[in-house]
Amino acid sequence: MRSESAGDEPLLPLGGEPADATDPALEGVRPGQPTPGRIGRVGPGADEGLADPGELGRRQRHELWMRRALEIAVTGPADGGAGPAGADAAVEDIPVGAVLYGADGTELAIGRNERELTGDPTAHAEVLALRRAAERLGRWRLDGCTLVVTLEPCTMCAGALVLARVSTVVFGAWEPKTGAVGSLWDVVRDRRLNHRPEVYPGVLANESAALLRAFFR
Ligand SMILES: [Zn+2]
Repeated sequence: MRSESAGDEPLLPLGGEPADATDPALEGVRPGQPTPGRIGRVGPGADEGLADPGELGRRQRHELWMRRALEIAVTGPADGGAGPAGADAAVEDIPVGAVLYGADGTELAIGRNERELTGDPTAHAEVLALRRAAERLGRWRLDGCTLVVTLEPCTMCAGALVLARVSTVVFGAWEPKTGAVGSLWDVVRDRRLNHRPEVYPGVLANESAALLRAFFR
C-alpha cells in the first residue's frame, strides 16, 4: 500500500461537508459505541447475505470470528503467509491477528502482524488481510466485507479500512496509546469522510488483552 494513497481520493470541496454531516443520528456517537456507518447508506452491511441474526446472533458471530482472529494472532507465519525469515523471527512480532469476511460470511483472507518478520513497517495484520482479500477478489473495493482484528487498529490500518470501503470493523482490545478507532483518534467515523464503516469494539477484549500482556511480560 502506498502511504500517500489517501491523496488519490477526491477531496471534498472547500467549505463543503458531506450531506449527512449534520445528521442528528450521529450527534450522540461517542468513541467506543457501536455506531451506524453513513446514515442512509444503502448497500450491503456485514449481515446481508445471511439471515437477520438479531443482536444476539450478531454478537455470537462476532465472537466466533474473533476466536479465529485470536487463533491467527498466535500462529506462526506458515499459517499466515510466506515470510523470508524462519518461525523464530515471528515470535518477536506482537501477536495481532485479523480476518476478513465476505458479505456472506466467507473467510476471504487472514493476516498476522509480521512487522519484525518481514522488516516491513506496514505489515500489520489488517493491511495484510486487506491485501490478500483484494488479491483474491481481484478488486480493491471490499464493500460488504467485515474486518475482524484482535486489537484496535492504528491510524494506518484505520485509513486502509476506509480506503478499502470495508463495511464493518470488529475489534478486540482497545489500544489507548495508538488506537484510531475511538481511542486516540476516530478515523473510521470522521464525519468528513464519505465512507464510514460500522464499528463493534471490545469483542473478546479480555482474551486479546491477555494475549498481549503475556507477550510483553
Ligand atoms: Zn495497524
